Amino acid sequence: MTTKTAAAAARATVYGYPRQGQQRELKKAIEGYWKGRVTADALRATAAELRRTNWQDLADAGITEVPTGDFSYYDHVLDTSVMVGAIPGRHRAAFDAGTLDGYFAMARGTRDVAPLEMTKWFDTNYHYLVPELGPDTVFTADSTRQVAELGEALALGLTPRPVLVGPVTYLLLAKPAPGVSADFDPLTLLDRLLPVYAEVLADLRAAGAEWVQLDEPALVQDRTPAELNAAARAYRDLGGLTDRPKLLVASYFDRLGDALPVLAKAPVDGLALDFTGAAAENLDALATVGGLPGKRLVAGVVNGRNIWINDLAKSLATLGTLLGLADRVDVAASCSLLHVPLDASLERDIDPGIVRWLAFARQKTAEVATLAKGLTQGTDAITAELAANKADLASRAASPITRDPAVRARASAVTDADARRSQPYPERTAAQRAHLGLPLLPTTTIGSFPQTTELRTARADLRAGRIDTEGYEERIRNEIREVVSFQEKTGLDVLVHGEPERNDMVQYFAEQLTGYLATQHGWVQSYGTRYVRPPVLAGDISRPEPMTVRWTTYAQSLSDRPVKGMLTGPVTMLAWSFVRDDQPLGDTARHVALALRDEVVDLETNGTSVIQVDEPALRETLPLRAADRPGYLAWATEAFRLTTSGVRPDTQIHTHMCYAEFGDIVQAIDDLDADVISLEAARSHMQVAHELAEHGYPREAGPGVYDIHSPRVPDAAEAAALLRTGLEAIPAERLWVNPDCGLKTRGWPETRASLENLVAAARTVRAEIGTTGS
Ligand code: GLN
Ligand code: ZN
Repeated sequence: MTTKTAAAAARATVYGYPRQGQQRELKKAIEGYWKGRVTADALRATAAELRRTNWQDLADAGITEVPTGDFSYYDHVLDTSVMVGAIPGRHRAAFDAGTLDGYFAMARGTRDVAPLEMTKWFDTNYHYLVPELGPDTVFTADSTRQVAELGEALALGLTPRPVLVGPVTYLLLAKPAPGVSADFDPLTLLDRLLPVYAEVLADLRAAGAEWVQLDEPALVQDRTPAELNAAARAYRDLGGLTDRPKLLVASYFDRLGDALPVLAKAPVDGLALDFTGAAAENLDALATVGGLPGKRLVAGVVNGRNIWINDLAKSLATLGTLLGLADRVDVAASCSLLHVPLDASLERDIDPGIVRWLAFARQKTAEVATLAKGLTQGTDAITAELAANKADLASRAASPITRDPAVRARASAVTDADARRSQPYPERTAAQRAHLGLPLLPTTTIGSFPQTTELRTARADLRAGRIDTEGYEERIRNEIREVVSFQEKTGLDVLVHGEPERNDMVQYFAEQLTGYLATQHGWVQSYGTRYVRPPVLAGDISRPEPMTVRWTTYAQSLSDRPVKGMLTGPVTMLAWSFVRDDQPLGDTARHVALALRDEVVDLETNGTSVIQVDEPALRETLPLRAADRPGYLAWATEAFRLTTSGVRPDTQIHTHMCYAEFGDIVQAIDDLDADVISLEAARSHMQVAHELAEHGYPREAGPGVYDIHSPRVPDAAEAAALLRTGLEAIPAERLWVNPDCGLKTRGWPETRASLENLVAAARTVRAEIGTTGS
């Protein structure tokens, strides 16, 4: 295939780059600063050096237009709040003192002042700090940082393009400040915000920016006509300014849908669109609106959030089609590379043949540059790259890792009946009641007990070779003994082993499943200085041997009360990993589900009568567009049922989710057909119990009566009051008593006290409703 030469030389660009540095220098410097070991000047110098290195990296790789303003000490949405002067009143004084401390106080809080709330950035695992706005918010422009970083890049002789969070997305991500009515709509502040953006844009132009990028990912979500009108108004106003740089409005994570015609018509100079995954629909939509005559199109053809190599030939074909639809076409990754690790070539422990399938930020940058070169000079100029790419894609497609015949045969033989319990809930519950003999309002916990320093030391000792596996496992067994004896003494009804052997609820299983890869350097920013290293779901998944059985059975051997087995569910296993892009997610979920199903059955065979399959991520991977949700929920709930349906009717299946707002997936929760669900509720005052009841949820539920997110110990009266509220919605025969979530982040003193109070509350309320419990 030969592509015709683009009219103008196509530029290669990205919207952002990993911030932390190859040795995680930024994390170390910031945490050092917090501890007083690194001065503000030293921190600033480290940050400037990292920005310089990143730009140089990008330029060396062939990126012809580099982003500025994508760097952050904590979060780019917080930086936007600073840029527009939206500093909450409680942080004003510290912030005005002009040091970094005021900034970090907004992010992390201090002893006296609460931080901004933190939440997930669209459907990624990155968390941003939620802007707090109200009718009294006064915006003021502060372009200092943006201007300074632009200057740094210009001084290096580069062509920089500042990247800002766009005004519409900024307001759509905001929430009413504390004390402001919940009905307040931040979007009503648009007219006040636009002049501030105008000022920043003028400053950037004066400082030498030819182009400025305004990110509007909120426009890939379903938007009301009023919200689309606001977007139209924003870009009519900003586009109409006389003293401004050229404006590039960027969207990513999904298709623009109804917002595409709005932006196509706006008097801005270019659009950046995502053409990967579900967003590939942008291609047809663009043709339908007649393309972008007179505008620049930046085409995100390299997926910016997965870790797989691009299909270069396919991307070139897409780019070739796009050439006819815009004034000029440039090449980019679909979103900021913030969401991927830095460099796959650092992964020395992964088979080099497999490393060739992986593209982290550095590799994606090279792909973008290669595609731009091919688009500009024709495919002959990139023959070697295309040939290597084709070979790597072929090796991945044909590998026994991605094609395990046994796994494939089993997955395609799955029937509807495999994903159904053998009896409906009413019959199961009778069998379980007889089998388990639990009191009314049974008490339990969510699984983990405090991860103590001793446990962390034991793991570190094992890694460093100071103790052997035998020594490590002895320490784990000691911990299990303590956890079990504490629960017996406290009077809990369904016990757990406490998960002391688990570093992380996904990684622990990923390490034991065939088809999963662990990375050494695959760090991705979750929030602030917290980075996670998601495992890579690379191939067909199978379970060579039982993963949890010996710990659960050991705990069970110590007690006559039922010990609950504890597994991470298939949806969460996918959500907190890098998933494969070479088959539908539903197929991958089915592989994981079948492996977990074997574990569930083995637990039952070895005497476990209660098994909990955690799915805290069920809601967070809900697609951004409502039209895509039924498809997702169908495979997600099927995967859960496939995991849990291999057991006898008298084995009780629990699940757990930790979020308070789940109104939009209550039907899906019902479709899981779990016998018992525990949910976060203490902070929302049992609202979830009412939502379940309104939906007619027919099975057992344990809305949390102890908020584990804080060290505060609820007293027995408070827990009992929450229980009574729960009873207004859920009858006593179906109500469980438990905390909100796992206890791994808590200390022992508050855990002990809180669980004692929780059991006391259950006993009090049992007595009130006229039965005698245990
Ligand atoms: N069983 C897990 C625990 O208790 C559940 C964790 C979670 O919900 N995120 O730690
Ligand atoms: Zn939880």
